[in-house]
Amino acid sequence: MKEIVIISGKGGTGKTSVASALASLAGKKAIVADCDVDASNLHLIMHPKITSREEFYSGTLAEIDEKACIACGLCQNVCRFNAVEYSNNLYAIDELNCEGCGYCSKVCPSGAITMKPQKSGDVFHGDTEIADGMVYAKLGIGAENSGKLVAKVKKDAMLMAEKKGRNIILVDGSPGIGCPVVSSLSGASYVVIVTEPSVSGFHDLTRVIELIQKFRLSAGCIINKRDLNEEISQKIKDYLIGEGVQHLADLPYHNSFSKAIKEGVPVTTLEVKEINDALCTVWSKINNQ
Ligand code: SF4
Ligand code: SF4
Repeated sequence: MKEIVIISGKGGTGKTSVASALASLAGKKAIVADCDVDASNLHLIMHPKITSREEFYSGTLAEIDEKACIACGLCQNVCRFNAVEYSNNLYAIDELNCEGCGYCSKVCPSGAITMKPQKSGDVFHGDTEIADGMVYAKLGIGAENSGKLVAKVKKDAMLMAEKKGRNIILVDGSPGIGCPVVSSLSGASYVVIVTEPSVSGFHDLTRVIELIQKFRLSAGCIINKRDLNEEISQKIKDYLIGEGVQHLADLPYHNSFSKAIKEGVPVTTLEVKEINDALCTVWSKINNQ
């Protein structure tokens, strides 16, 4: 199975536009996984017809049974997160503060505290005209464990690919270098980094390449909006050579990207020759890896 992960050091570089364009070039050969679970939006371009939805549970929260509680206060004494409140002779859990460590339930002398599994998001599976299938997720508001949700999306995409007999998974990762990105990179065959020629874009690129090198992954880079700053574009290219990262393509700053987003279609469908030629070159380079 070939797993191609598309990431960016920061948001707004055009990562999702590139991911949907590569999905359109891969067509029915690929399954697409949107692992940007904190702000998934690839489905707005892929328009999957949802075939199943699964609730995702991760972590636990303490819950006090008022009837069983003997108001000894031990739970409040041991909680290091100030998650146990006391008022009107009752102890109760403040869910926003509870970290689910379970210490309170261990010390409670009357067994009044249970640890309840917490729903942290939903996972969606669907068919799409653009690729052969899609998996994406939405993390609940304020929910944590996005890394685990990313792992779930990737696992489901793998199962979908196996079931449909496909051997390419395109993963749209989340921006940055945090836990969800690390989870997106796990098992990657090749990483496509989308960057832009700005001071912050270059800085974030160096961080993301450092991360990829820790995982010893092969990677290539697309410089999007190249003409925003030709000088930094050139510095990025020199940097890529020094770091052994393949330069996949330069994409010009072009209004077809924002038009495609507004219309909810991959940019390739707008058939702008310069952009499509560059993206086809990228796809062919990735396939030769
Ligand atoms: S589970 Fe941990 S964090 Fe939550 S109330 Fe109990 S001791 Fe506090
Ligand atoms: S430790 Fe158990 S019995 Fe004591 S106050 Fe907490 S919930 Fe109630």
